[in-house]
Amino acid sequence: MSDRAFIEVRGAREHNLKNISVDIPKHRVTVFTGVSGSGKSSLVFDTVAAEAQRQLNETFTAFVQGFLPHYGQPDVDRVSHLNAPVIINQKRVGGGSRSTVGTYTDIAAPLRLLFSRVGQPAAGPAFAFSFNTPQGMCPECEGIGRTTQLELGRLLDRTTSLNGGAILHPDYQPGKWLWKTYALSGLFDNDKPLDAYSEREWHDLLQGQDLKVSLGEINMTYEGLVPRFQRMYLSRDAASMSDRGRAVLERFTTSAVCPVCHGARLNAAALACRIQDRNIAELSDLEATDLLAFVQGLGDPGPPGWPPTWPSGSRT
Ligand SMILES: [Zn+2]
Repeated sequence: MSDRAFIEVRGAREHNLKNISVDIPKHRVTVFTGVSGSGKSSLVFDTVAAEAQRQLNETFTAFVQGFLPHYGQPDVDRVSHLNAPVIINQKRVGGGSRSTVGTYTDIAAPLRLLFSRVGQPAAGPAFAFSFNTPQGMCPECEGIGRTTQLELGRLLDRTTSLNGGAILHPDYQPGKWLWKTYALSGLFDNDKPLDAYSEREWHDLLQGQDLKVSLGEINMTYEGLVPRFQRMYLSRDAASMSDRGRAVLERFTTSAVCPVCHGARLNAAALACRIQDRNIAELSDLEATDLLAFVQGLGDPGPPGWPPTWPSGSRT
């Protein structure tokens, strides 16, 4: 580990790298560009980052190393002047609707602990301040911060029938399996335009549940469009859907900030809990430097009797 001005890579041959030697300036943002497959990741992640991680792990005792992931020596003559690495991997950020800067940087965990200890009024242990737990999440949006609504006006073409392809989602087009669960249910006249549906038919199409229907050999429980969309698409984390599935869904839904938590993702008890007039969502929204200043302003409460009197909401 060294503070020299360049990270020196000599003779990198990891994967398809052809004996690459580069000097990477420190204290600068360096960008590696190139066509797909040119070896950017092999050089950055599999050589420089892997070696930095390996060297860092070697500084720990054998006992601690037993708990760390094991990194083999990358195929390189040498990598010099490395510092302790912060490795941010290539997984998509923002694809997971449950991920934030806080969860990525681990700031969220100590903040939750802080609120569980000194926030007022008390809302419970640290996990009661997490939007990923049933105890902490906003019940309306289930901790996502946004709600997605099915737009029936976009999903259905009322001028035509089930046979005419009235359900516009591509998976519900005539002949597809999901279309059959409606068209072969026996509940509808498949040639009747939706505009002519009775109240009963509309109810069955949209909300029907717990109806037993048989599709040829198969007996199944009928499920209306609204509960089915809720279950199959809207309740799922967008990150678990394919890009295509997500793009298709966006054509038939609207998404808006959750009307209950206003995007804060937590339930009312967690949001009511404050330290110096700030709740955990407000602190989580601060820039890292502003958050640091706030936390430093709290001072070191020290052990026993912790916390002592806080400027507001002191606990007894
Ligand atoms: Zn909400």
